[in-house]
Formats: sequence, C-alpha cells, structure tokens
Amino acid sequence: MSQPLVARRPDKVQRSADFVSQGFRDEIFASGVVVNWSRTTRCPCGEVHVLASVSPVESAALGEARTDCARCRGRGSYVYRTDLINVQVTGASHTDDVATTAGGFAHGAVRFTLLSEHPIRLYDRLAIVGSKGPAEVSVSAANKLVVPYVERRVRRATIEALRFPAVPTTFGLGTPGDPTVLLNTTYAVDYCVAATTGGVIVDDELAENVDFAITADGDIDWALGVARGTAPAVGARYAIRYLCHPSYLVRSLPFAHRAQTQQFKGQIQLSRLNFCADAWPEWLGEDTQP
Ligand SMILES: [Zn+2]
Repeated sequence: MSQPLVARRPDKVQRSADFVSQGFRDEIFASGVVVNWSRTTRCPCGEVHVLASVSPVESAALGEARTDCARCRGRGSYVYRTDLINVQVTGASHTDDVATTAGGFAHGAVRFTLLSEHPIRLYDRLAIVGSKGPAEVSVSAANKLVVPYVERRVRRATIEALRFPAVPTTFGLGTPGDPTVLLNTTYAVDYCVAATTGGVIVDDELAENVDFAITADGDIDWALGVARGTAPAVGARYAIRYLCHPSYLVRSLPFAHRAQTQQFKGQIQLSRLNFCADAWPEWLGEDTQP
C-alpha cells in the first residue's frame, strides 16, 4: 500500500495543563528526598583511529578510552560535579526472580522526579543523603542516610577517592558496662585490612584515625599509616568496608523533553516541566574499583 498513514485528528483540540508546576515545587521541598546529584561526562582520552571508510569525526568517536587514563581509568566517562538538590521519589519497581527467592538481591528501579532546573542525563548519579517530611531531617544532622559498602582496592596514592565518598556518621550507642548511658560514636570505616604487594594478607586490622583518616571529601588519607609504617604499599591491595550514601545510576529517562504553555493574564507562557529519571542502585552486586 503506497498511501501515507495519516492519523485522524479530532475537530477541536483543547489545550490542557497536565502538570501544576508550583504545586510540585511546594511538594518537593515539603516531603521530597535530598540527594547529591553528580553529573557524568565522556572522557576525551583515547586514541583516534583513522579509518578510510568513515569520516574523521566518526573515526574519532571510535577511539576507545585509555586504560591508563588518570581521570576515567579506562571507563570512558567520569563524574565531574556534585550538587545537593531536592527531588521526589515518584515510583519504584522490582523484579522477582530465582535469585530473589533464594535470598539474593531483587533487581529494580526507583523513579525520581526533579525540578525543571535540574536537567539530568543518563548515567548521572543520585546519592540519597536524607529526606524531608514530617520529621524534617536536616542534611547537616548526624542521622544522615548511610549504607555500608565493601570494596577491594589497589593503593595508588597518599590520598585517594573511594568508589563512593565515605561519610562519617554518629550513632547513639550505649556505654559498655552501663548501656543506659548514651555514648555518641562517630565513624566512617567499619573495617580495613591490607595485603603485601605479593598479595598475602597482613592480618592486622587498620584503624580509622590511627592508620588512615577520612578527609572532608570522603577520600581516604594514608598519611598516618605511612608515618607509622602500617599503610599498604603503593601497588598493594586493601579491602575496606565503609559507610556511604545509597547511590543510584540513571538508566532511563521517560518524558525527558517536556514543556507546556499556560495562559497568564492574556499572555501565553512557556513553562518547562520536571524531569523524570529511572535509576538503579549503583552498588548492586559489585565490588570493583573505579
Ligand atoms: Zn579517560
């Protein structure tokens, strides 16, 4: 059939405002969650392969990231800026599978809705820091939302970034000997142990503020252990279990490009609509070093 498939249009198309932006803005500050939004960009590293069959621009795009790149370490992209913003969780889903019934993790996604001034992109990272709501949990309060994360790393420098920034967190414990007395205890690292450069475990637990410290940025600083002679050598492995904010990677952007017009005092005004992002837990099932 050669006839074009023209959709039948109604006689009259009514303009409809499908979203009340101001109402959502109120809601997001009243009951949303507070997240660290980190943006992802492509790394410009990589070799340019000149192929006769494609244009120079396409040839450049084919170049793979360098595995020795100091910035992206071969991943081809990296996180470059973090802002503390308010978002709203507007949905969640998970898939039950065999692993779940056997006690494994369920795979799923959380849907976040962001204000129009926060244009989000695929593979951006959203780390939940705290929440708004009736209890009005302040971001600066000690009870920030944290989860433990474990990774195995190779030491490269004196100060190095962990996969996620470590977050020193205060817990109100009971005092040993008299659990009725409150003992506020702050720590970021739960456990840390190293190996020699030959890969043999050194079975002495490394302690926070003794063998290493956590910087204000959440990096690990080995200066203490270097001075004491307890830090793993550069090139040696260590394993670390620490507290960090639960982190999600944007994997899908439904309704990414939306705007609406509204009539206000006889004028047609454009209002940009909010961004919606489906994100997956970034840490799920992984313990690799970035
Ligand atoms: Zn790179």
